[in-house]
Amino acid sequence: MINRLIDFLNESPVNFLAVAATAKRLEAAGYRRIDLLTNDASQLAQLQPGEKVYVTKNDSSIFAFHMGRKPLSEAGFRIICAHCDSPTFRIKPNAEMYCEGGLLRLNTEVYGGPILSTWFDRPLSLAGRVILRGEDAMHPITRLLFVRRPLLIIPNLAIHFNRAVNDGVKINRQSDVLPLMLLSDEEALNQKEPWLTRVIMDELNVEANHILDADLYLYDCQAPSLVGETLISAGRLDDLSMVHAALEALVAHEHEVPETTRIMAIFDNEETGSQTKQGAGSPFLANILRTMSGGGFVSAIEHSFMISADNAHAWHPNYSGKYDPTNHPVLGGGPVIKFNAAQKYASDAVSAAVFASICEEAGVPCQRFVNHSEVAGGSTLGNILASSLPLRGVDMGNGVLAMHSCRELASVADHNYCIRAFTHFYK
Ligand code: ZN
Repeated sequence: MINRLIDFLNESPVNFLAVAATAKRLEAAGYRRIDLLTNDASQLAQLQPGEKVYVTKNDSSIFAFHMGRKPLSEAGFRIICAHCDSPTFRIKPNAEMYCEGGLLRLNTEVYGGPILSTWFDRPLSLAGRVILRGEDAMHPITRLLFVRRPLLIIPNLAIHFNRAVNDGVKINRQSDVLPLMLLSDEEALNQKEPWLTRVIMDELNVEANHILDADLYLYDCQAPSLVGETLISAGRLDDLSMVHAALEALVAHEHEVPETTRIMAIFDNEETGSQTKQGAGSPFLANILRTMSGGGFVSAIEHSFMISADNAHAWHPNYSGKYDPTNHPVLGGGPVIKFNAAQKYASDAVSAAVFASICEEAGVPCQRFVNHSEVAGGSTLGNILASSLPLRGVDMGNGVLAMHSCRELASVADHNYCIRAFTHFYK
C-alpha cells in the first residue's frame, strides 16, 4: 500500500495535479464526472442509490459522492475531508530576472508556511496550470503543466560568507529564496520570448501568443523514499497522505451500494486559511449537499459525521519540551485525534468517542494530541467547515515529523492503520 502512496505523491507535485490524479483514480473505480459548467446542477438532486459521481471546483478541489440506499434525511452523510495544497512558492508574473554570467532567477512568492531553509540546495521544477486563449475572452482553456525534469535550484550562501549560519539565520522571503538556473548558450541567445514562456511552449506544444496566464509553483524533484522499512520521507505528506488514505478507503467499496452516502471532500488553500471558492471556507460543498438532500438538508446534517483528516504532530525526541506532557502521539502509534480548548479543532468528547470506536472496531490503535499550553499550534478544516456545515466531526490525522518541511517524515504503519479506519468508517 505504501507504494501506492508513493505513486500518488509522485503524480501530485501541486494541488492541480493532485486533483487530476484523484479524478483519474475515481474514474477507474467507476465514478462519473459531473461538470457543473455543462451540466445542470439539479441532477445532483436525482442521484440514485449506488451512483458514483464527482465534481471539481477551480481544478484544485474535488468532491466524490457514492450514493447510499437510505434517505439522506434519515442517514445523513459520511464525510472524509482533507486538503491537497502544501506549502511552496508561487511563480510571480513577469518572473524572469536575468543576472550576470547567464544566470536567470525567477521571482517567487511564498505560498503557505514552509520551513524555508529546507528548500535550499534541492533540484526543483515547475508544476501547475496554464491558461490558453479560448474561443472568446470568457472561455479560456486550462492545461496542466508538470515539468518532470529539474529546472531550478535555490543555492545556499557559502558558510564562509556567513559564519553564523548555524546559529540561526533570518531568511528574506523576497531576496534569499529565488530559484535560479544557468542559461545554455542557445537559451541566452534566443530570448525572443521570456524563458518561462519558452518552457510552457515546449512542454505544452503551444504558441507564445496563445498563453494568457499561469498558476505555477515550485516542487522538489526528489522522489519519496522509505527510511528503513518503517518510515517514509516525502514532500507534501501534509496532506496528500490523508487524501490518499481517504481515496483508498472510498474505492475499496466501489462495487457496493452503501447504506449511508459516502463523501470524500478534498479542499484547496488550507495552508492559506481556506477562504477561497475552492477552500473549506466556501459554501460550495454545503450548496451541493443542500441540493442533494432537498428539503431534508437539516435532518441530513444532524445524522452526518465528518472526519477532518489533516496530519498531526508526532513526538520528536530531540525537542520533547515542545510537547504536551501527557498527550504526545508517537510515530507508528495509529491515527491521532486532535483537541483544542478554543475549538481550533472540531473534535469534542462525542466525536472523539465515535472516531476512537471506529478505530477499535477496525482493529487500529488510536492516539490523542493536545498542544503544549504555551504553544499556539495550527488549525485545519473541521472548524472552518462548521460555519457552513454544522455537523458532528472529528479532527484527526497521522503523526508526522518536520511538518511543512520540503520533506516530511511519517510512519508506514500509520498510513495502513488510517486506511483501515477510513475503510471501516465508509462501511
Ligand atoms: Zn495540513
